[in-house]
Order: sequence, then C-alpha cells, then structure tokens
Amino acid sequence: MGKFSPTRQHGDCEEITNPSTAFGRRRRNWIEAYGDVPAGQVVDASCGNKHCIALRHAYLRARVEPPGTYRKIADRVHKLKVGQHFEVKGVGTDERSRNRFRSGLYAAARLDKVSVRGQPDGSVRVTKVGEWSSVGA
Ligand SMILES: [Zn+2]
Repeated sequence: MGKFSPTRQHGDCEEITNPSTAFGRRRRNWIEAYGDVPAGQVVDASCGNKHCIALRHAYLRARVEPPGTYRKIADRVHKLKVGQHFEVKGVGTDERSRNRFRSGLYAAARLDKVSVRGQPDGSVRVTKVGEWSSVGA
C-alpha cells in the first residue's frame, strides 16, 4: 500500500488527495479482492467520499451517463453527411452495454437514421445512414 500515492486516515476512510487516482485505486483494490468489475458498472465509495479507497467502503453501482450524453452524440450525428461515421470510446464490449447505448442514442437521434456497431476495444462506431424526412418528400 502507498506505493503510488500516499494515503491518509480520515475517520473510517482511507483517503488519496486526487479523486481520479482514488477512483483507479478503488477499482484495483476491488479487483484484487473480488475479481473483475462487470462492464457497465463502476466501483464507488459507499461513504460518498470521492477520495476514499477503503475496501470496506467500496461497492458496485451501475455506471450512469451524465445527462445530455446521448443528446450531444445525436447532435454530432446530425452534422455528419450520410455515410460518415465517428467513434465513441468506452461503451463496453458486452451486448448489454451496447444495447443500452443503442437505445439511448436511437431515442435521442430523432432526425437521423443511425447504425451503431461495436468494436473489439469497447468503443462503438456510429454511422449516419440516412435522414428521416418529416416533410414527406
Ligand atoms: Zn470511506
């Protein structure tokens, strides 16, 4: 312990100054103790302390996309020409995560027809395949 960043005791918590370092350490501690973190889930601290890496405070919860995530991706799709694509990283390689992404984006991208294809590295390729016409052309 304490090889990379110094920890300090704070009440019941074990803290690291940098919250993103703490996030990574929490995840590593969890994996050492219990094994893999399922895709679409993150290791959070039950005490609500973002600096806390105490294993007894660690628990799994579903990853929640920040509000507006799909809206932003949908806006990006709308600026593409038909046939163009871009990649979104970190969606996950399992079907559940990909389906969640797909349905979130389909709901947000109401003006465009999109195709979502999962990549082996956990990203997805979002391709604009057409536009819905509301005018009835
Ligand atoms: Zn804690």
